[in-house]
Amino acid sequence: MIPEPHGGRLVDRMLSQADRARREAEVGDLLTISPFIDQVYDAEKIGIGAYSPLEGFADQKTLDSIVTTNRLPGGLPWTMPIVLAPTGTQNDAVVAKVRSGDEVGLVDRTGQLFAMLHVEEKFGWDRTRVAESVYATKDPKHPNVADLLASGEVALGGRIDLLRRLDWPTGAAELSPKETREEFHRRGWKNVAGYQTRNVPHTAHEYLQRCTLEREDVDGLLVHPVLGRLKKGDYRPDVILEAYQALVKNYYPAERVLLAALSITMRYGGPKAALFLAIVRKNYGCGSYIVGRDQAGVGTYYDPYACQRIFDEYPIGVQALKFAETYFCRDCGWMATARSCAHPVERRLNTSQTRIREALSKGEVLPSEIIRPEVAKVLARGDVLLTE
Ligand SMILES: [Zn+2]
Repeated sequence: MIPEPHGGRLVDRMLSQADRARREAEVGDLLTISPFIDQVYDAEKIGIGAYSPLEGFADQKTLDSIVTTNRLPGGLPWTMPIVLAPTGTQNDAVVAKVRSGDEVGLVDRTGQLFAMLHVEEKFGWDRTRVAESVYATKDPKHPNVADLLASGEVALGGRIDLLRRLDWPTGAAELSPKETREEFHRRGWKNVAGYQTRNVPHTAHEYLQRCTLEREDVDGLLVHPVLGRLKKGDYRPDVILEAYQALVKNYYPAERVLLAALSITMRYGGPKAALFLAIVRKNYGCGSYIVGRDQAGVGTYYDPYACQRIFDEYPIGVQALKFAETYFCRDCGWMATARSCAHPVERRLNTSQTRIREALSKGEVLPSEIIRPEVAKVLARGDVLLTE
């Protein structure tokens, strides 16, 4: 069955047209904050229910509960605190001024008002403690920890009202949880498996997707790349989307796969990020969720299989489809894992992203055992990696 949203109800904080017009007319009198891009994404996702049951940014009680128990105050599993702690001279002046009960406008990077924050609590928070809990490190070399430590010392908790969806570069590919749920219903899909990625597809990814599509209990696959802010050296979001479009169009039955973009900032938090990403996909309507090796990991911060074990520790009502490390075996002549292949490690083709990026930077042609020619064509145009 299509699962109920996390907490039982899909949050919808989108204002009606009339309320929106009224709010926008008042904008001259409003105090406004321009959040860091991560929280612009977050505010929008709260508004459309992607983070159900959250209705706003964390207050102190919610933050403490997540950090100490991996649960919301009501007991529901939740591993990623969604905190608004803006910085910058203009924001600091506003944060200093606001009090509980105030209303603050949130503006996007173009200066457009897109959401209202009902400030319910203003509080100081211990960023190092949150980093150590969520990311298991306070090392500023960790991309998210660096951002966290650079955020403001004072956080604003409170509900969000969303005035409009934002214009992301991935445009039409962005669907709301309401829209994916409607689409699943239209297609008659009862159990949908969610696939998380922040990469262009290579054959190891395709293997996991195919194994999932072969399952009798899976009606459809939601390929849902995170295409918000990624880190330096990752692929550009438009490249990831185009590469997936090439794979889906050329290889998968159209009625079995839905490709949609998810604009949020990637949290490279290993197990806690994996569980968070699964909860988000539950809200989009996925009853199953693919978890490969080292999902949402970065560097060597996390045990590569901790991202699978956390699903047993904190049941979220989603079936985790766990896979071992996948590779192309020269002796099998096929994709395999150690569960299905007898051959020594040195017979495996290295299909890692590092290897693919290396080949790209040298202008090498990648073999079809590693990457589909249609996907390689997208990568061959150059300028495909983020440089900042
Ligand atoms: Zn083999």
